Amino acid sequence: MKREIRVEDLVIEVRENLRRKRNVGFLFQPNGRLILDTPPKVERSVLQTMVQENLRWIRYRLHKVREEARIHPPLRIHNGGHVPYLGDNLVILWVKSDESKVVRTGKVLEVHAPSSRYVRKLVLDWYPPRASRLFAKQVERWSELPWLRARFKSWRHQYTSAQWGSCSEDGHINFNTHLVKVPECLVEYVVLHELCHLKVHNHGPKFYSLMHEYMPDWEERRRELNGWQPILFGD
Ligand SMILES: [Zn+2]
Repeated sequence: MKREIRVEDLVIEVRENLRRKRNVGFLFQPNGRLILDTPPKVERSVLQTMVQENLRWIRYRLHKVREEARIHPPLRIHNGGHVPYLGDNLVILWVKSDESKVVRTGKVLEVHAPSSRYVRKLVLDWYPPRASRLFAKQVERWSELPWLRARFKSWRHQYTSAQWGSCSEDGHINFNTHLVKVPECLVEYVVLHELCHLKVHNHGPKFYSLMHEYMPDWEERRRELNGWQPILFGD
C-alpha cells in the first residue's frame, strides 16, 4: 500500500529508500505531485512538519515542474517522435532493413530495423554506451581535483527517476544515464557536484564554496538542469 501524508490540499506520497541515510529528497513529478524520498522509519509527524515549513517553496516548485513539463515533455520513443541527446532534439526515422542498427546523422536518428516495433528498444539501447563515454570524459576532465586520488573509488551509471547523481561515503559515485540527454555543460556540473561530495559529504557552506571555486556559474547550470527534470519520467 502507498504511504501518503496530507498537508492542506496536497496529498504527498512517501517512499522509504534504504539507501538514504539522512536527508529527505523532494521529487517533484511533472504531473504536479510530490514524492518524499526518505530514509527508513522517519516519523510521519516529522515529514508533516517538514512539508508545512517548506510549503511556499513546495507550491512554487510544483507550479514550475508543471510549466517545465510543457517545455520538455517526457519522451515517448516512436518512429517520427523526438528524443533529446546532449541537449539536441533528434527526430527518429525508422528505416526498414534486415539489420538492426542506429545511425545518427545530424539531427536525425536513423533506426534501421525489420519492423518499427523494434525502434523503441534500439533507441533505448543506443543511449547507455554514449553515457559511458560522456561520464568517462567528464570524470577525466576533473581528474586534477586534489582530493580525488585519495578518495575516489569508482563510478557507474544507471537509469533512475530519483536523482541526477549520488556519492557514497566510501567513494563510489552513481550517475543517472538520463544525463546523456541534457547539454554537456550540465553534465559537467553534476559530475563536479558528485566529485566535490568526496571531499564534503553534505550540502553545507563548505560544499558550496568548493563548487564556487571550481565552477563559478554552477547555480545557473543547476537551474537549467532543473528544467530537464521531466525527462526522468519518460522512456
Ligand atoms: Zn549533492
